[in-house]
Amino acid sequence: MITIKKHILNTDDNTIPVSFDASPNHSDAFSDGLPDTIVMHYTAGSSLESSVNWLKNPASKASTHLIIGKKGEIVQLVPFNLKAWHAGISKWRGRSGLNRYSIGIEMDNAGLLVKRADGYYTNFGKRLDNSLVVLARHKYGDKEQAWEAFTEKQIETVETLCLLLIENYPIKEIVGHEDISRGRKTDPGPAFPLQKIINRVLTGRKDDESSNDGNEENNGINYGVVSADYLNIRKEPSTNGQLASDPLPRGTKLKIIEEKNGWLRVKVELQGWVSQKWVKGV
Ligand SMILES: [Zn+2]
Repeated sequence: MITIKKHILNTDDNTIPVSFDASPNHSDAFSDGLPDTIVMHYTAGSSLESSVNWLKNPASKASTHLIIGKKGEIVQLVPFNLKAWHAGISKWRGRSGLNRYSIGIEMDNAGLLVKRADGYYTNFGKRLDNSLVVLARHKYGDKEQAWEAFTEKQIETVETLCLLLIENYPIKEIVGHEDISRGRKTDPGPAFPLQKIINRVLTGRKDDESSNDGNEENNGINYGVVSADYLNIRKEPSTNGQLASDPLPRGTKLKIIEEKNGWLRVKVELQGWVSQKWVKGV
């Protein structure tokens, strides 16, 4: 079993191999009550070893807290109480510089592939067997592209880690680098089942629908929940309407204000922690 002691992973049985290999690429400790977000990445590198070496190199000025190999093994580079440098220029839900709020997890994966006459190649020139290639459209992209598949072991380890981090830190959200650095980054990309993992580890933890059926319905207010992976929210009831914000992820709770020709005007209700001293009537 894996546990966290003094912000470092420990294992008592090595079912999932864990090691610590310190990287200097971090700043000081998080502010109180943080980190509250997990950011997922792929390395786009050629091996776990080469990526660990790069993330430990002061010249790279980059490191996540964790990196996960293809066999599901974990290397921790930065203790969880320190701000690792993985997000770069980033913004999400009104906050920028996500390094200040998040734990970063890299996965050893080549990411976006290049198609040549005889097959699919990584950015470092290695041909991949077709069984390792996923053809899919990026959620913010407009065409199908080729991506390296993640291994089952990697995905299992990510899920275990997310549950462990949620238990030990006030984690409220898991996002992709692609979400917080939109247009600049494509990781972890469509080959990674981010939404499935979110559904398994974050949603369904009480709250959600069951709490709505009392008073709110009696007041005549209707609620809905986003059932697509990502749903565009627009300023006008038309597919040409300008986007009002980033797409809403599956499970987002909506207050329905108005219905019109197959469109719903909604108000999005966010959930998170706010300082009690700035809220009236508590
Ligand atoms: Zn990244």
